[in-house]
This record gives sequence, C-alpha cells and structure tokens, in this order.
Amino acid sequence: MAKTVKINEQFICLNCGEKNPPADKTCRNHCRRCLHSRHVDELIPGDRASSCEGIMAPIGLDQNPKKGFIILHKCLECGHENRNLAANDDNFDAIIQLSTGKNLGPGENQ
Ligand SMILES: [Zn+2]
Ligand SMILES: [Zn+2]
Repeated sequence: MAKTVKINEQFICLNCGEKNPPADKTCRNHCRRCLHSRHVDELIPGDRASSCEGIMAPIGLDQNPKKGFIILHKCLECGHENRNLAANDDNFDAIIQLSTGKNLGPGENQ
C-alpha cells in the first residue's frame, strides 16, 4: 500500500520519540530535539522520491549567511547525504554540539 507523505506535517521521531509539530515557517524535515531526519528525499529536499526511509543522522553543520544554520545529514542505511536548513525551534544545544564536531549517534541523545 502506498504511503502518502506530506512535506510539512507532524511526525514522531524514529530516533528519540519526540513528537514534532508542523514547522512554523519552514518545512519540518528533521527532529527538533535530536536533529535526526529520515531518508525520504532523493535529489531535491521535499521531492519524497526515496524509498530508503532509513534514519538520517546529523553529521555536521554549515552556516549560510542569509539562511542560517544548515544541518548535514547522512543516511545510516545507504550513506546518502543531504543538507537541511535548521528550523527556528530546533534544539540549539544539539546544533552547538554539531558545530563542535561531536556527532550525535543514534540513541545517544536521550
Ligand atoms: Zn529525535
Ligand atoms: Zn538511505
């Protein structure tokens, strides 16, 4: 049975169980608490073209002078990498940890 996935919807994080409400201004594509994401996009953010659906771990941080923090995600299943804009209600401590190079492994951020 085909699942339909809306781009901006609430979801339960597969990594930490946080219930994420729909984002305010941007698309909610990662957990606001542990920053983990899910591999559902393939080429462009929001295309929902991937059938992998593995957990994507935050592996690094970048900064865009105009848009703010960019979280680098890597799929734990297939190794696919993605860049996602941080939402303004993301866990700032987790973002700081990323910027210092301390990776949050799956299940480590309870
Ligand atoms: Zn989470
Ligand atoms: Zn994947």
